[in-house]
Amino acid sequence: MTGVRRRGPDEWTRAGSVQPGDVRPSEGRRDPLGNVPDAVYRLDPQGRFAYLNAAAEKMLGQKAEELLGRAAVEAFPALRGSLAEEQYRQVLGDGRPREFQFFYEPMSRWFEVRVFPDPGGAAVLFRDIDGRRLGDEERESQLRGLSAVLEALPSPTVLVGPDGRILSANGAWSRSANEVLPEPAWPGRPGEDYLTAMTRGLGAPAHAQLSEGLRTLLTETSRSDGRTFHLDYSADSPQGTVWFHLQATRVDHEGRVVITHTDVSEQVRAREELEWKVRHDDLTGLPNRSRLLELTGEALAVAGRTDGALLMLDLDGFKTINDSLGHEIGDQLLRLVAGRLSEEIRPGDTVARLGGDQFVVLAHGCDASEAAALAFRLQTVFALPFRVGEITVPLSASIGVAVARPEVRDAHHLLGDADAAMFAAKSNGRDRVHLFSPSLREAARWRLEVATRLRGDAIDQLVVHYQPVVRLDTGQIDGVEALVRWQHPERGLLPPDTFLSVAEETGQIIPITRWLLRETTHRAAEWAAQGLRLRMSVNVSARHFSAETLVRDVRVALQQSGLPPDQLVLELTETSVAEDPTRAEDQLSVLRSFGVRVAIDDFGTGWSSLAQLFALPIGTLKIDRSLLAAAERVAVGDTGAVLAAIVGLTRTLGIRSVAEGIETPDQLRMVRAAGCDLAQGWLLGYPMPADQLLTWVREIESAGGDVCALAAAGRAVPGRG
Ligand code: C2E
Ligand code: MG
Ligand code: MG
Repeated sequence: MTGVRRRGPDEWTRAGSVQPGDVRPSEGRRDPLGNVPDAVYRLDPQGRFAYLNAAAEKMLGQKAEELLGRAAVEAFPALRGSLAEEQYRQVLGDGRPREFQFFYEPMSRWFEVRVFPDPGGAAVLFRDIDGRRLGDEERESQLRGLSAVLEALPSPTVLVGPDGRILSANGAWSRSANEVLPEPAWPGRPGEDYLTAMTRGLGAPAHAQLSEGLRTLLTETSRSDGRTFHLDYSADSPQGTVWFHLQATRVDHEGRVVITHTDVSEQVRAREELEWKVRHDDLTGLPNRSRLLELTGEALAVAGRTDGALLMLDLDGFKTINDSLGHEIGDQLLRLVAGRLSEEIRPGDTVARLGGDQFVVLAHGCDASEAAALAFRLQTVFALPFRVGEITVPLSASIGVAVARPEVRDAHHLLGDADAAMFAAKSNGRDRVHLFSPSLREAARWRLEVATRLRGDAIDQLVVHYQPVVRLDTGQIDGVEALVRWQHPERGLLPPDTFLSVAEETGQIIPITRWLLRETTHRAAEWAAQGLRLRMSVNVSARHFSAETLVRDVRVALQQSGLPPDQLVLELTETSVAEDPTRAEDQLSVLRSFGVRVAIDDFGTGWSSLAQLFALPIGTLKIDRSLLAAAERVAVGDTGAVLAAIVGLTRTLGIRSVAEGIETPDQLRMVRAAGCDLAQGWLLGYPMPADQLLTWVREIESAGGDVCALAAAGRAVPGRG
């Protein structure tokens, strides 16, 4: 390239172009490309340097004078056969510009090269891009590293670039595409806009939250790596609803964001199941007490509305059914009842199960008479017996109804009212409906007080009164019946019916009876030691009977007191025995075997079969005073025929009969005539405290010892105990 001068590129600017190949002879003028940072040179068709600017000289490390006219491949032998040489030839061949990146071995650097054809060969622009390429490579390797990390994550994860596009996604993301995005669509490939991809599965509100969260993460200008955004969302997939926890974390200052979508369906389902369980009854699937209270609270909270009602149903005698048929059948029966009740109520109303055999219906929008009508309708649910396998069981329910009133704004309060009404329905007999009235609340309050106090100090305030039992043939005192009373500190002496039913409900009756057995056997043993042999009758509740500690409790009392077993009589009502005759027979036989006597109390008030009753090892039958009154009515023309028939039967079976509740000389005459063995009643002696009884007995003895004769003459009865 000798003879080719280095020329001033200002000539090119004049041409208004930046064609570096335009060579104009204008020696001495400044090279207009001298200050251009990119290196520029020209090669003639033979590949010899025809021009170099200052940047090119600098980059190639040689002066223009040394290079001009020399073939590039000679000056830089490493170019021979290189990509650069080949590209240059191609430009010369087809006259089209080329652009490529080129690693120049001797310098060990990357260059970006652009070759433009021109009439005298080609112009070459090149720049050192080694730094940039390294940056790119670094980024790429970083990306590869991140992708590898993403790949290792079990949750569908994407890396999103600052522009919101997916840079990389892991396998889990593609695999669970249909879950993250329930529509069977590709979840979004690298390059696609992440938010656009997410519209395919996310509901609008969740998508809006995601957009907002992501926008904030991406547009944070300050150094904000580690900033995180969370979103929980659910989506419907072909397999059902799936729940995801999305976590988007900005990972670097360039603003890339890693977004994981963790499938939390199992946890959500477990949590929902737990929440459901907390509010529902396992057995029937109905709302439980706490859910019922919630729903009732919501109903009562509707301002200006007080037209709702709670109907509490308690199945009659269900405990007996459970005990005799077994809990499995009991459970199935409860499910059947739940099903029938649920069918009977109106949509929007609720049936809940409080536990045991108690159900509650929450009825909206009804007044007292409508609620009562609903109660009667619910009773018809029990009209047909329930069938479990081969067994058919008739059931009935006692129903208490409480209607919301303006002053009742509290769910517990209303439920308490329904409970009080149900309790009243129960005590009226089975299969009844009772509407709440404020006096019932008083009764309920009393029951609560009793329950609380019996668990506390009340047991120490119990006292026993003794009522004489008299032989009808000789008029002598045969024994006493122990009757418990509560010496209440404020209310005075309370009869047993004010507290014993509560004690039965709460189970406190068992420790009470245990105490009574100890107290009375000691008392009888003490009297015997003083020469007064009185047979001691103690009332035992059905509850104690079914708890199966009776035999042990009786044995302990007898051992500790030293009372001969035949001096103790246990009184059991016919209903308590009839509830489970087999169990009764077993326990009574054991008691009999150690000499204790057993009496059936209140005979004539239950519906037990005589045959069944008399098959039990009982020694005494106590005829209830209601039967006495009935016998009296019949006896107008025919002296106590009913009574005589019963007594005749007991005689045949070797059972002693006791006539209870003798109040008048006429009644005394009648039971005597009927052939009863023993009698008890106010005419003969009131229940009285132990010391008073002792005085009374002494008085009777000194007056001849015939209570019946004294009573008939109006002289026997002491003051009421
Ligand atoms: P019960 O076992 O049939 O006791 C007889 C009840 O009739 C007693 O009432 C007694 O005071 C009452 N009475 C006695 N003579 C007459 C009379 O001539 N006319 C009338 N109208 N009543 C008379 P009380 O003491 O109120 O006991 C009622 C029931 O409470 C008892 O009936 C018994 O079932 C139960 N009870 C009493 N004490 C106990 C006890 O210690 N344990 C258990 N489990 N129950 C008891
Ligand atoms: Mg009794
Ligand atoms: Mg009785």
